[in-house]
Amino acid sequence: MPITSPIIDQIPQLADYFVALYKEFHQHPELSMQETWTVERIEKELQSYGLEATRVGGTGTVAMLENGDGPVIGFRADTDGLPMVEKTGLEWASTITTSDVDGNNVGVMHGCGHDTHITCALLMAKLMNENRDQWAGTLIVIFQPGEEIGAGAIAMVEDGLWEKFPKPQAVFGQHIWPGLADEVTLSHGTAMSMADSIKVTVHGKQAHGSQPENAIDPIVLGAHMVTRLQTVVSREVAGSDMVVLTVGTFNAGTKENIIPDSATFKLNIRTQDEAVRKRVLDAVDRVLKGEALASGAPEPTIEPMYRFPRCDNNTQLAKELEQNFRNSLGEEKVNVTGPATGSEDFGILGDSIDVPYVFWFWGAYSDTKYKGPGTVAGNHSPFFVTDVPEQSLSTGIKAGLVAVLSHLGK
Ligand SMILES: [Zn+2]
Ligand SMILES: [Zn+2]
Repeated sequence: MPITSPIIDQIPQLADYFVALYKEFHQHPELSMQETWTVERIEKELQSYGLEATRVGGTGTVAMLENGDGPVIGFRADTDGLPMVEKTGLEWASTITTSDVDGNNVGVMHGCGHDTHITCALLMAKLMNENRDQWAGTLIVIFQPGEEIGAGAIAMVEDGLWEKFPKPQAVFGQHIWPGLADEVTLSHGTAMSMADSIKVTVHGKQAHGSQPENAIDPIVLGAHMVTRLQTVVSREVAGSDMVVLTVGTFNAGTKENIIPDSATFKLNIRTQDEAVRKRVLDAVDRVLKGEALASGAPEPTIEPMYRFPRCDNNTQLAKELEQNFRNSLGEEKVNVTGPATGSEDFGILGDSIDVPYVFWFWGAYSDTKYKGPGTVAGNHSPFFVTDVPEQSLSTGIKAGLVAVLSHLGK
């Protein structure tokens, strides 16, 4: 078991290189499935290591390190940024703006920290490639686009990821988050929640604001829908089952004295169990149609936008990895937790070929900044950035290497 490895020992001397590389990615965030600069930069770096990169799933790329007989292990890093203006005030903050899917000009930021994921995976590829005498087998390093919209993992699988590359025995992945930079956190079962995003168009009948008798008011109807949807969680699901239902947008009307002909809203649902998910989605459908009926309105248009499937760590693999983390990072540097309410499409990579996987988190912050949950900016905040890049990236590189070397190591 590679509790200590000459490969891991080389991380400190590469600090200047990987911190500079990280800052370069930080300054060039791109939106989901538009990671054209990013993928080219990743491939250029891989090629400078002497590795070949294969484009998969549009803006995804894969490096395979074949090193004789032995297990095949996959490691995945996601590469996309978010449509938000960075407010960290750092000298190397992103100033990038671009057009989003609706044609709006938006700022772009690596507000989820995927720049650190890219950097750690590149360093893993570099170190594993330069130290082939220390391990055996095949390492598949997957740079996945489009995580933030749940589009990238499925795009890579549908583009033949597991036909182009051998089926691994396990797949690993990691995410930076608001914790201590020298600590990792993992769960033994469900790691992340499932998520469903749905767009609802409420159809009414337009009329003058003074003549409700000639209208079907989609705003009042939509408001009833939104309110009643809250009872799905409180009145239809067991208290022991985790469900979050949020209506995040509501748009209708142009003027106070016109009853508009339609309203739209978007909701987001998080669940951790397939049966609960089905129950909630059925209830949402019933409530939306039932409220429309009660108002004498046509059936609403209910459109699924995107979904994140399960991300369930394999229990045995997660317990083994926990022990390996304790042995290499330090007994007290490893936390075991329950599922997060956030979502990930990482699980698709393993679930699509029925291969076990583990996904874990590592911290971004120094102990002078992080004083417990809620004391620092988290993922998707315009202030979310590591204050100790060298230390945080070192932990990410080390954790990734521990995971893959525990199967590939000699
Ligand atoms: Zn993320
Ligand atoms: Zn994110």
